[in-house]
Amino acid sequence: MKEIVVASGKGGVGKTTVAASLAVFLTKAGTKIVAADADVDAPDLLLALGGGKTISSTEIEASEKAVIDESKCTGCGNCVSACLFGAIVMQNHLPTVVRLMCEGCGVCKVVCPVNAVEVKKAVTGTLKIEDTKYGFPSVTGYLRLGEHNSGHLVASVKKSGRKTAEGLGAKALVVDAAPGIGCPVIASISGASYVIAVTEPTPAAKRDLERLVKVIKHFGVPVGVVINKANLSDDFRATLEDWVTRELGYQILGEIPIDYEVVKALVNMAPVTEFNPNAEASKILTAIAKRVKDEVLP
Ligand code: SF4
Ligand code: SF4
Repeated sequence: MKEIVVASGKGGVGKTTVAASLAVFLTKAGTKIVAADADVDAPDLLLALGGGKTISSTEIEASEKAVIDESKCTGCGNCVSACLFGAIVMQNHLPTVVRLMCEGCGVCKVVCPVNAVEVKKAVTGTLKIEDTKYGFPSVTGYLRLGEHNSGHLVASVKKSGRKTAEGLGAKALVVDAAPGIGCPVIASISGASYVIAVTEPTPAAKRDLERLVKVIKHFGVPVGVVINKANLSDDFRATLEDWVTRELGYQILGEIPIDYEVVKALVNMAPVTEFNPNAEASKILTAIAKRVKDEVLP
C-alpha cells in the first residue's frame, strides 16, 4: 500500500484541491484508495468532496489537564502562584483550572501540600471515518478548540487511514497533510511513499516550501512539485521553476493557472475536476493525477 501525501509549507495554496482531485481520479481509474485529512486544525478535505456519512467517531486523548479535588483543597494558593501558564485562578477562595490554558505540566500537583491535584488525560480531538459519495472512505482528525499535541492526532489519523486501507485492500492512502513544518506536518509525512508539494509563485510560498523541503529531505521521500496559481507572477514563476528543477532536482508535475472554476467548485463542495471537467484547472489537475498514478501506482 502506497502513501501519497499532498503537502505545502504555506496554507491556502491549493493543497486540498490537489488531494481531492487525485483521490477521485484514482478511484475512477479503478485504484482502490482511502483518503485522510491530516490538517486537524482546519480539516476541509471532506468539504471539498461534498461531505460524507459518518461510519465511526472516536475521541482521542493525547493531552493532560490538571483537575482539583475541592474536598481536599485548603485554598493555600500554592498552585496559583506556581503555574507558569496562569492557568489557575482563585474564585471564592478556591482554585479553578482554566482548561484552555492548562499545559498539563503537573507543577501544581507537585506544590500542592494536600495532594488535591491530579493531572488527567484529556480529549485532544475526534477521529472520524466517513463515507464519501465517490465510493471511498475518508479519515479526518478534528482538533478540539484550544488543544495542542495535534501531531499525536495526525499520527492517529494516519494509523487509522492505514488500517482502513489495509482492511479494504486499498492500493493507496491519499493524505491531505497539515501545512507548515511543525509536528503535525512531520507526522503527516512520516511513512510517505511520495510527496506532492504544492506551492505558488510568491516569495512567501517559496520560502515556506524551502522549509518544507528540509523536513521532506529528512525522510528521503521522492517529491513532485505542483505550482498552483502559476500565472500570479510570470517572473517569479521562472525563478521558482529554476530553483525547483535545478537546485532541488525535483520534477514539476504541473502548473495550474488561476481559474475561477476552482472557487466555484469549492463553494459547491465538489472537486473542480468533477464540477467542471473542461475547466483549465481541471485538465491540468487530471494530468497531474494521471502522472502520479503512472509513476507511483503503476
Ligand atoms: S498542570 Fe501545569 S499548566 Fe496546568 S494548571 Fe497545573 S501548573 Fe498550570
Ligand atoms: S495547592 Fe492544593 S491546597 Fe493549595 S490551593 Fe492549590 S489545590 Fe488547593
